[in-house]
Amino acid sequence: MQTLFTLAQLADPQVAESERILRTCVHCGFCTATCPTYVLDGNELDSPRGRIYLIKDMLENQRPATAEVVLHVDRCLSCLACMTTCPSGVHYMHLVDHARAHIEQTYRRPAPDRLLRAALARLLPYPRRLRLMLAVALAGKPFAALAEAIGLKRAAAMLRLAPSQWPHRPLAPQTFKAVGPRQGRVALLAGCVNDVLAPQINAAAIRVLTRLGIEVVVAKGAGCCGSLVHHLGREAQALAQARANIDAWTAVESLDAIVITTSGCGTTVKDYGFMLRTDSAYAGKAAKVAGLARDISEYLATLPLEAVQAAPRLVVAYHSACSLQHGQRVTRQPKELLDRLGFDVKDVPDGHLCCGSAGTYNILQSDIARRLRERKVGTIERLRPDVIAAGNIGCMTQIAAGTKLPAVHTVELIDWATGGPCPPALREHGPRAAVHPSAAAS
Ligand code: SF4
Ligand code: SF4
Repeated sequence: MQTLFTLAQLADPQVAESERILRTCVHCGFCTATCPTYVLDGNELDSPRGRIYLIKDMLENQRPATAEVVLHVDRCLSCLACMTTCPSGVHYMHLVDHARAHIEQTYRRPAPDRLLRAALARLLPYPRRLRLMLAVALAGKPFAALAEAIGLKRAAAMLRLAPSQWPHRPLAPQTFKAVGPRQGRVALLAGCVNDVLAPQINAAAIRVLTRLGIEVVVAKGAGCCGSLVHHLGREAQALAQARANIDAWTAVESLDAIVITTSGCGTTVKDYGFMLRTDSAYAGKAAKVAGLARDISEYLATLPLEAVQAAPRLVVAYHSACSLQHGQRVTRQPKELLDRLGFDVKDVPDGHLCCGSAGTYNILQSDIARRLRERKVGTIERLRPDVIAAGNIGCMTQIAAGTKLPAVHTVELIDWATGGPCPPALREHGPRAAVHPSAAAS
């Protein structure tokens, strides 16, 4: 794509990077076929190519964002399916991140939108505030239908997504010793939403890792990875959260990896090197941290995992989270691990299409998110699985809100098959689902 940025504009490293990305796009349109928003409505402006044109026009002409640009960029899920499809290697993620930051700086949103986005940015990344918010949502959950009926669609979406249980406390900083001789040492990102909504995920990861001789450190000072606010265009807040994590992990000695159980967070931590490339105090440390980041499935695939007894035969519909398959290109490992442990793993048809979760998307764009969930749940249910597995709490919550099937994290199944307890969601779904792997095979 030809661009017309001036030399003065290109002196800004962020503009220079976006110009480089724009130049790689050859307008072929292959990306439109795999873009969930284009697949739903067929509007070119809700396709990657259409958004790229809008962003180019805005940045090249140094224009404040217009309502039209905001509408179509806001509808983008940042699912990154377009990056997997693009034959020219267009780094859409960095381009849309720049566009979101530009929108945040130059566009004044209507008051309700501003208030909601500010509340999400101030509550979600902080576990104590998030627990308070979820406690209020829990009390309001029975009124979701009423909220929908009186036109409060976003409030209704939030209430429907709220858990039915009291929110949990996040993991405190501590070290979990390896069982037997120590074979390795990793930091575990406790995260913000993950532990408050579903502490069983990190608990399962810790059990599996320590059983395999890996010491697990939850570092003091590490918190939200920054992705929630990054996708809201709040760049300064995202970078501050990234720096805090980098400081916390850099202070821990002899780390083999930084293990992450929420693939949305993993994609962001792996991008820290790029996000802080112009910060001379952090660029080196950020690149090192990014290089150590591993999705839990990626790390476990390097270890000698074995089922405790005979193979389980529960049918698992494996939902490949966009952040894992498109953001991190981790596609094989989760399925191979489950298969190796004896589960009957089924790919979800049209698995490249997002479930509609996408961070805060299912609150901010609740209509599109609901349509994507209905589509995803339909394809999953046709497989008639015993359980749905995913590597991201956002997907688990989003999908579980539309089906009666149990949705668990991949590592919960791995833990169960290697000697851990039955995942709570399976226990709640009755005898067939909760048959222990070893018993299911007999
Ligand atoms: S990130 Fe996803 S929603 Fe956004 S343009 Fe790419 S494919 Fe479409
Ligand atoms: S597939 Fe890639 S090169 Fe083709 S239009 Fe989409 S982003 Fe541009």
